[in-house]
Amino acid sequence: MSIKIENLTFIYNQNTPFEAKALDNINLEIHEGEFVGLIGHTGSGKSTLIQHLNGLIKPTSGKIEVGGTDITSKGTSLKEIRQKVGLVFQYPEHQLFEETVYKDIAFGPQNLGLSQEEVDKRVREAMELVGLDFEAVSERSPFELSGGQKRRVAIAGVIAMKPEVLILDEPTAGLDPKGRDDILGQIQNLYQKNKMTIILVSHSMEDIAKLVNRIIVMYKSKVAMTGTPREVFKRATELESLGLGAPQITYFMKAFKSKGHDIREDVLTVEEAKEEILRYLRRSENA
Ligand code: ADP
Ligand code: MG
Repeated sequence: MSIKIENLTFIYNQNTPFEAKALDNINLEIHEGEFVGLIGHTGSGKSTLIQHLNGLIKPTSGKIEVGGTDITSKGTSLKEIRQKVGLVFQYPEHQLFEETVYKDIAFGPQNLGLSQEEVDKRVREAMELVGLDFEAVSERSPFELSGGQKRRVAIAGVIAMKPEVLILDEPTAGLDPKGRDDILGQIQNLYQKNKMTIILVSHSMEDIAKLVNRIIVMYKSKVAMTGTPREVFKRATELESLGLGAPQITYFMKAFKSKGHDIREDVLTVEEAKEEILRYLRRSENA
């Protein structure tokens, strides 16, 4: 499902002394099946933007189309939009509330009025997709699980709605490295298996470089850049002026090249760097 954003402006607390323009004339298109990374300094407007995409926040002005439906017009069923566009908030585990993991994940599907059998099937599938063992945790209280597991329960609750677009706001924030890798692996898996459209908000340039097809960079309420990870991370100096940067490995390769080694510098992941360095060493041996 594609998303089209036209001239979107949003002002918090308009006409009060606390007025703040969080989005300033945003124009964007997100295509069906894209995996988009949304990056930007804190306060640049990322969370405000994504909350517009499922109707949670109404634009001050502008238009948003989801799958061809104008969700800003009166009479659009927000319930339907929220089923199609799943939003995983930052620290989603703060919103767990049921007494068992099962009930928490089942809550959304139950509200869709599905049969008990279908709800059960969806809970099981969602748990499997996020790597939670049904037998071991479905009857436990979400509150006694580890931080990483709680987060997976919260993500499973959104996945169980079978959204066509999945938006995740900093899904690895506050997790340890193992928890981060697990969640990112599951998101990648979801993308590959279910061919969803995914928007990932992240502070980690490494994660973004590894996962996404396209990057959108926000700066002070505006879209500052878009492009493939290679296109965007090539502009490291510009990114720095926006309070961001490229992945560490990209800087390493640039530094290595500047010492007179003839290697590619537009490398984004450790895996790519390894291959490029090996190629370089073989070339030097043969020279
Ligand atoms: P990001 O997710 O990129 O950190 P946000 O969308 O949270 O950015 O914030 C964009 C701007 O809107 C910031 O200046 C922030 O202070 C302001 N803002 C965010 N939420 C609120 C709110 N509930 N009330 C008033 N201002 C807000
Ligand atoms: Mg945010």
